[in-house]
Amino acid sequence: MKYLAPTTVDEALEVLRGDPTSQVFAGATDLIPQIRAGRPEPAVLIDLKRIKRLVGLNHNNAKWVVGAATPTSTITANEAFIAAFPGLTEASGLIGSDQIQNRSSWGGNLCNASPAADSVPALIANNAYVVVASNSGERTVKVADVVVAPGRTSLRADEFVVEFLLDDPPPHSADAYLRLIPRTEMDIAVVGAAAAVTLQGNQIAKARIVLGAVAPTFVRVHEAEAALTGQTINDNTLAAVAQAARCAANPIDDKRGTIEYRRQVAGVLAKRAVILAAQRAQGAS
Ligand SMILES: Cc1cc2nc3c(=O)[nH]c(=O)nc-3n(C[C@H](O)[C@H](O)[C@H](O)COP(=O)(O)OP(=O)(O)OC[C@H]3O[C@@H](n4cnc5c(N)ncnc54)[C@H](O)[C@@H]3O)c2cc1C
Repeated sequence: MKYLAPTTVDEALEVLRGDPTSQVFAGATDLIPQIRAGRPEPAVLIDLKRIKRLVGLNHNNAKWVVGAATPTSTITANEAFIAAFPGLTEASGLIGSDQIQNRSSWGGNLCNASPAADSVPALIANNAYVVVASNSGERTVKVADVVVAPGRTSLRADEFVVEFLLDDPPPHSADAYLRLIPRTEMDIAVVGAAAAVTLQGNQIAKARIVLGAVAPTFVRVHEAEAALTGQTINDNTLAAVAQAARCAANPIDDKRGTIEYRRQVAGVLAKRAVILAAQRAQGAS
């Protein structure tokens, strides 16, 4: 296996043009275990972490630009980012251990395309976009449109994610992410639920609710969002959120939980994520 560490996006694209079977990576926290488990080794591995544009966070003109290979521990240590996106910070901070987080990236979490990836529901709830580079130029894509099936993305073989784009949340907004795992540390989600809400007085003006690990791809729970919009948080609206989340979930049976259990937990976590996001939004300026 050949290892290359380009220092610019163009250099990385040149390698991809020369050998379309080459593969980009950032932290390799998914890639190495997968190769060890028997996945075919790519002939050329392209390390993205030496490309300056892909590592770091910038906040300008009410927009966040986060390099696709930025270690998640760098993101979760940024005070301004934590204040703007407490839920997305929580989601990113749940990935593996401290050691994993010093390597793992949002780009890898997204492009590994696991339905249980923790940062992705929170990115979708916050309406994040990615900038994707290829030899024919750059395009901007919704994070929600990247994962198309377990292990498969909508990206072409000659494309990679350069950075994530997030707008500052509007006033009186906040997010939350909750997940259930079968033990206290280092496992993947049985269910993950992200909520982002904007308040107007004590009513919900806007809500986005996204589930992970309960279907082949991430599930936006539009019915729960509709049940909340223009309403206060009360027993009826929360029951509607839970019911909509249970119905939207289309999970599998496996060693981490049955279909019935996952559906039930999806309802509970969606409801709790909405409550937490709304409490935070009440305190937000
Ligand atoms: C012990 C352990 C615990 C873990 N726990 C969790 C957990 O709790 N929650 C969770 O969500 N994940 C978990 N993971 C999985 C993994 O750590 C995350 O998915 C992580 O975010 C992957 O990032 P990475 O940079 O290491 O990806 P890599 O391994 O470098 O890449 C993963 C995939 O994405 C592709 N890729 C990487 N960057 C890009 C890019 N910029 N553009 C296009 N394609 C790209 C690679 O080609 C590869 O196919 C765990 C892994 C381990 C080993």
